[in-house]
Amino acid sequence: MQYLQNKMTKNSPVKDLPLIGDVKAKHLEKLGISTIGDLLFHIPFKYRDTSNIVSIEKLKETKEGTILAKVEDISNVFTKYRKVITRAKLSDESGSVNAVWFNQVYLTKTIKKDSVYLFEGKISPKTANLTSPSYELFMGDLNDQKHIGKITPYYNETATISSKWIRGRIGTLKKEVDRIIDEPFPSEILKENNLMGLSQAIHCVHFPDNFEHIKQARERLAFDEMISIALKIEQKSKERKNRNAVLIIKNEQETEKYINNLPYKLTKDQESAIDQILSDISKDIPMNRLLNGDVGSGKTVVSAVAMYNTFLNHQSCLLMAPTTILATQHFNTLQELFKNTKVNIELRISGKKLTNISKPSIIVGTHALLFENKLPNDIGLIIVDEQHRFGVKQREQLVVAKLDGTYPHFLMMTATPIPHTLTNILFGDMDVSLIREMPKGRLEVKSHFVPFEKRNDCYTWVAQKIISSKYKEQAFIVFPLIEESEKIDAKAAVAEYEKLSKNQLKDLKVCLLHGQMKQQEKDKILEDFKNKKYNILVSTSVIEVGIDIPHATIMVIESAQRFGLAQLHQFRGRVGRSNIQSYCFVISGENTPANTKSRLKYFASHSSGFDVAQYDLQKRGPGEVYGLRQSGIPQFKVASINDLELLIKARKVSKQLIEQEYNLEGIFK
Ligand code: ADP
Ligand code: MG
Repeated sequence: MQYLQNKMTKNSPVKDLPLIGDVKAKHLEKLGISTIGDLLFHIPFKYRDTSNIVSIEKLKETKEGTILAKVEDISNVFTKYRKVITRAKLSDESGSVNAVWFNQVYLTKTIKKDSVYLFEGKISPKTANLTSPSYELFMGDLNDQKHIGKITPYYNETATISSKWIRGRIGTLKKEVDRIIDEPFPSEILKENNLMGLSQAIHCVHFPDNFEHIKQARERLAFDEMISIALKIEQKSKERKNRNAVLIIKNEQETEKYINNLPYKLTKDQESAIDQILSDISKDIPMNRLLNGDVGSGKTVVSAVAMYNTFLNHQSCLLMAPTTILATQHFNTLQELFKNTKVNIELRISGKKLTNISKPSIIVGTHALLFENKLPNDIGLIIVDEQHRFGVKQREQLVVAKLDGTYPHFLMMTATPIPHTLTNILFGDMDVSLIREMPKGRLEVKSHFVPFEKRNDCYTWVAQKIISSKYKEQAFIVFPLIEESEKIDAKAAVAEYEKLSKNQLKDLKVCLLHGQMKQQEKDKILEDFKNKKYNILVSTSVIEVGIDIPHATIMVIESAQRFGLAQLHQFRGRVGRSNIQSYCFVISGENTPANTKSRLKYFASHSSGFDVAQYDLQKRGPGEVYGLRQSGIPQFKVASINDLELLIKARKVSKQLIEQEYNLEGIFK
């Protein structure tokens, strides 16, 4: 049969390759591979160097390595328990060794007596046998080997697709890579930035000759992953800068009066965030700003000053929060913050529609706002709190042009401490205002790591503490998301709740909250907890975001190892909201490994959200920092999210390419 690799393009189906039929093609789809291009971009995740061939005598000393040996004899032995052991005697000039494999009857057919093979593996110290070595027929020249005797790539596999098999399929394309892969970048850019050509990089990762080349090749591939993000950021930002914004001129006098009438003095960071925002919204380009500050750092009042100025400019505002509880809380806070002004505030949550609203006004709501058709047409400022809970699409749905063609300004507020690298990627087209400083007089939450064995002591302490405060203080107990299913979680939480309220916490009033409850039920429980009808609230992680219960001073987090540190930090932010000393306990699950414990200890000894998020980002990657459910974080194959330098390079190049109006089609594969 004549195969036509030399006619294939990167869009040819993988089925065109030898030995890939319908069944294998289906299995490959599970790895995201359907074309020749996909296959070539299936990048190895590790390498093994088996190029150092040793004699059998040496192998017996080092116990591990690669040999080139003749098969003197090979046969199957059947054991009592119907197991099969394949035994082979291998020899070279230095001596001989026995090799064994288990339950692979067919090996006596594939490995041929009297032929020469490369074998790679370990010698069992107990039996002195070379145990389950990998093998490959020697082709007469090491350069022609595919699997052993070289630097061997290892790929993501499935149950039916092995790394070895993938290596074989990609191997058939070795001579075609250069022809199949096009270079999307002009050569000057490659030179300037010291980047390897794309086809060379692809060739290098699959057929490497040394580790230095692999490193350069991976850097090139990482660059390509980053630049497609950087280009999207650049395009978006260019689009925004071509838009006209609603003008909102700062009312100096009223702003000063308003700030002076606040019951507290603003922190320096709050002041500069306000300056930045007011300066942005007085420009004719729509603001796109991220206000990033820890829980309790006072973002609401910053946004209130911006809303007030919008109102004074006869424009309306939207403030969107992720849950009904939070929207209602914002609504109440704003009523308090604007009680001495003429500002009109409306609440829009499910079951509470807008009626005839006066203009201008501030409309606070949940994502019900997205489906509201009675929104006024004079919206000048849109604020979204805790954005990471919303998809980017929803943001775009909100920010639409008005009848006169102008666009509203956009402010996103989040308490998720987002390290610099991530703001560059996730919010690359946004300007960032940071609030690092906490309001004066705030007591730091005392955090403790509790190993599983000390769990009972922890609850005894909590119960004592509440009793000795004469039931003034309250506690949260949080259980993690164990399955990707609220139902199963709720069950686990219910079981624990029952155990705790019958045992360790039997002298206290304990209530339970989980995601399977109806909204009304949840609201009622929270209301009752807030009114101190209960001392302790047990919940699944549904209470993660924002609720404000001033007398809750204790946060206990069970199986804390299951959370990212940023998430733990969010929980910790639920307490410490008053002038009473607060506590946070992170309890590790049974048999938690040492490195996980040290993560939790790091958390307990660091109070800054930025510190803990940076730690997790470095140690565990972005998926863990934000929890698996959060979207919008790019899944890199090769690039590392921590590689700020490469990201900056990619952003520089993307600016250059857009300025030169370079054809970008090839880059967005
Ligand atoms: P977050 O940034 O988590 O949204 P909030 O805006 O809810 O924080 O503020 C938390 C609490 O701190 C509120 O009760 C608020 O009134 C208070 N607060 C805000 N700024 C200051 C300040 N400069 N000094 C004292 N208290 C402040
Ligand atoms: Mg807030």
